[in-house]
Amino acid sequence: MTGDNSAGPRRLRLRYPAVCGTCAMELSAGTEAFWDRAVRQATCLACGPETGPIDAGTPGASAAAEGERRKEKRVEDARRRYGDHAAVVAAAVFGRETAESWEKGSVGESRLAAYLEREVGDRVIALHDRLIPGTRRNIDHIYVARTGVWVVDAKAYKGKVVKRDLGPIWRREHEVLVGGRNRTPLAKGVEGQVDAVIAALRPDPESKGTDVHGALCFLDSEWATSPFQVGYVWILYPRELRKRLRKKGPLSREAMERVARRLALSFPSAADERR
Ligand SMILES: [Zn+2]
Repeated sequence: MTGDNSAGPRRLRLRYPAVCGTCAMELSAGTEAFWDRAVRQATCLACGPETGPIDAGTPGASAAAEGERRKEKRVEDARRRYGDHAAVVAAAVFGRETAESWEKGSVGESRLAAYLEREVGDRVIALHDRLIPGTRRNIDHIYVARTGVWVVDAKAYKGKVVKRDLGPIWRREHEVLVGGRNRTPLAKGVEGQVDAVIAALRPDPESKGTDVHGALCFLDSEWATSPFQVGYVWILYPRELRKRLRKKGPLSREAMERVARRLALSFPSAADERR
């Protein structure tokens, strides 16, 4: 760092391990961070000053890529076992089965993202299709809103949404069925995603008390019931999600950006991963 006389923190790659002066997170050597030479203090990229736009990711990218990956695998299996002629058939037939469901998932995610972009706009900060580090799972959408963080799983399922009551009246629990199939495990999956987001925010003292909500959003289903909760996860449809994202809440724009910056670093965009 010779020849630099500017005051204040500079963004650079750390030569030695350090600890963020704000959130106390351990920073490894080689990582990008801010370094204030005068006070010999490092600040992580999430706590430091804003340095540019947050990578919003690409809605539906993972689902689309997974469909493509499965197709390739099936076709190559057929080629290896039976030859090129058989591979042509495998490629043609596949399109009508699995690819369709993955594509539908991908299109559903993009559709929800586009709808909310139009209806909610920059009242929220959106992060799409994020990897959960250490797992093979991903989060469809994270919305940082005035009311806190919304973790959203989008599903384009046909059929009627039914709320089923379980347990005694003083300890009611609910299950969710769509088109006669029990989809409660999806809500449990969102709970796991919410826990991961809470873990990402935990180190930051300034994000303390930020609410993290979970929502399972069914796009093409029929609704005869109002939104309800399975555990603490909201079961709802796009218009109801829109309503919640537009609500006023305690977070300032600055606080929202701070939270979004940390989450973008904690949950990498799945689209980046494949580049
Ligand atoms: Zn920090």
